Amino acid sequence: MSRNMLIAGNWKMNADAAQVDVFVKAVGDALDGAGLAADLLVCPPMVYIERMARALSGQPVAVGAQNIAAEVEPGAFTGEVNGAMLADCRASHVIVGHSERRALYGEADAIVATKADAAAAAGLVPIVCVGETLEQREAEQTEAVLAAQIDAILSQCRAATLESMIVAYEPIWAIGTGRSATPEQAQDVHAFLRAQIANRNATLAQSVQLLYGGSVKPDNAAALFAGADVDGALVGGASLTADSFLDIARAAV
Ligand code: PEP
Repeated sequence: MSRNMLIAGNWKMNADAAQVDVFVKAVGDALDGAGLAADLLVCPPMVYIERMARALSGQPVAVGAQNIAAEVEPGAFTGEVNGAMLADCRASHVIVGHSERRALYGEADAIVATKADAAAAAGLVPIVCVGETLEQREAEQTEAVLAAQIDAILSQCRAATLESMIVAYEPIWAIGTGRSATPEQAQDVHAFLRAQIANRNATLAQSVQLLYGGSVKPDNAAALFAGADVDGALVGGASLTADSFLDIARAAV
């Protein structure tokens, strides 16, 4: 089965309104409404989602969120933003289970699965992140760690969530370090993840997009994308400027 490539930018807690405007102007000038071979998505800080989405209307670039409330219904959840609100702001995707949210905000597998379900319930595509630490890789625990993370999603999420989700493999040791996984390491893990998914649902395993994330740059993107099971990238630092984001996207053919 042929799967589309997706290049997704995760801006984390970076940029301001002026930088959003500079980025969308540069993307608009470069694309001029014409798509690339890869689908494009940018996830800015939540407060800039609507500004970015409005400015990019007419451009082949979707806008997403980096977080979502676990709760679906409105209520007394101070500081939270639910899926319906994100959809109102024109978000189409939500990143869940990023290693920074797991490590800094205590979001374990169960809450990641709940948030993925909350995203799908609001019509948003959940991008579910999984990944191992350097210590786990060096102890040869990579597959066990990833199996536990993906199995939690496969066993806890609703069928409709699984059908809409994207999975991002992000080795923690590669995020923001400048040390990307090698193309072979990325492909090996993606093949492993696809096999894990196939154990539960062979059709889903063929259709689900598997993104690689961790120090993807214009100069290593093409080699990473050559992996048969690598369906694009989740890009942090290099997604903050239009030039490097689009150069990475152009490497996806
Ligand atoms: C990320 O934040 O998900 C990420 C992959 O960051 P970077 O590309 O900067 O390593």
